[in-house]
Amino acid sequence: PSTYANAMDTAAHQASLLGNYAAPAVAFERGQGSRITDVEGRDYLDFSTGIAVTCIGHSHPKWIARIREQAAKLVHCTNLYAIPEQARLADRIVAKAGPGRMFFCNSGTEANEALVKLARLHGRRKADGAEGRIAKIVSAEGDFHGRTYGSMSATHGEKIRNGFAPLCPGFAFAKFNDLDSFAAAIDDETAAVLIEPIQGENGIRETSDDFLRGLRKLCDERDVLLMLDEVQTGMGRTGSFFAYERSGIKADAIALAKGLGGGFPIGATWVREESAPLFTPGSHGATFGGNPLACAAAHAVLDVIEDEALVASTAARGAALKVRLEQLVEKHHRHLREARGRGFLLALVTHDTLPPADLVKALLEAGL
Ligand code: PLP
Repeated sequence: PSTYANAMDTAAHQASLLGNYAAPAVAFERGQGSRITDVEGRDYLDFSTGIAVTCIGHSHPKWIARIREQAAKLVHCTNLYAIPEQARLADRIVAKAGPGRMFFCNSGTEANEALVKLARLHGRRKADGAEGRIAKIVSAEGDFHGRTYGSMSATHGEKIRNGFAPLCPGFAFAKFNDLDSFAAAIDDETAAVLIEPIQGENGIRETSDDFLRGLRKLCDERDVLLMLDEVQTGMGRTGSFFAYERSGIKADAIALAKGLGGGFPIGATWVREESAPLFTPGSHGATFGGNPLACAAAHAVLDVIEDEALVASTAARGAALKVRLEQLVEKHHRHLREARGRGFLLALVTHDTLPPADLVKALLEAGL
């Protein structure tokens, strides 16, 4: 049998597409819950969830109904007018993140761009309004924050940055999970720290609770904002609504996206009450950000997460899955090194004897 049931003519597939994605192995046609079906009718257990996006599963009836209902009423309205669905969505996220204010956009990278602008505004405030002073942002080595210029400048990997110089000025990096390194990187010109509480692209690496607590203290001492990229780790994926919650700290600002719309594009930035006034009319915006349809999708996701207690079940089932992965590591220790992560953001680390691409291919053939 062919390697993949529905291996496509990839040359034809890519004829009119830019070559920025690797050749695809499978095309999917429909999804239901945690299952996804390819164009030839083969059924898979969906382990990628659109990269941490379809957090309530595919085609949830409540999500479909809410989108249908809103689409028939009003899909889009400019942010020059009040959007009640957006205001209510802001209330719901503020209730989880703490006193603060929200900005809505369409993607994770855009949610981080708002954080970059917040940092620059905070830097100007620190400098008593003087322009031209660098309001530096310090991120961790290995962090991934997105593909637009601000987010990419806060992204460490050469693979992401290569070829796109000049990147934005005013970004620096410290060693992952290393408080001394952050203390050294934060200088008089630093306005903010932007990190992932659990690095996703870099292989599911968790910051420690001690590190997050120490970083909070350091940021307070130096009047530096602590901004968390919860684009991938938010919405309950790691077994708490936000990944940082386990450490007991509070953030100054948070970026959200991915799971927020359950597959409908929407991103969001939460800014703590103290810093919220830095954004004034005209300082930021997005044509589509938080339109009625996108917000309806996000309301449906939050309803399902709450009604079905998905955060608690993700914590419990993620822990059970991790135990099974650890058993696999023990059994196949020649090929497998480690299981790591929490909730449903887990990694299986292989030895050189088992290239990850080979494992992924075999798992796809097995219907995963
Ligand atoms: N931040 C993190 C932690 C991510 O994992 C991603 C995407 O993978 C992004 C930001 C960028 O999100 P988007 O692709 O929606 O722009």
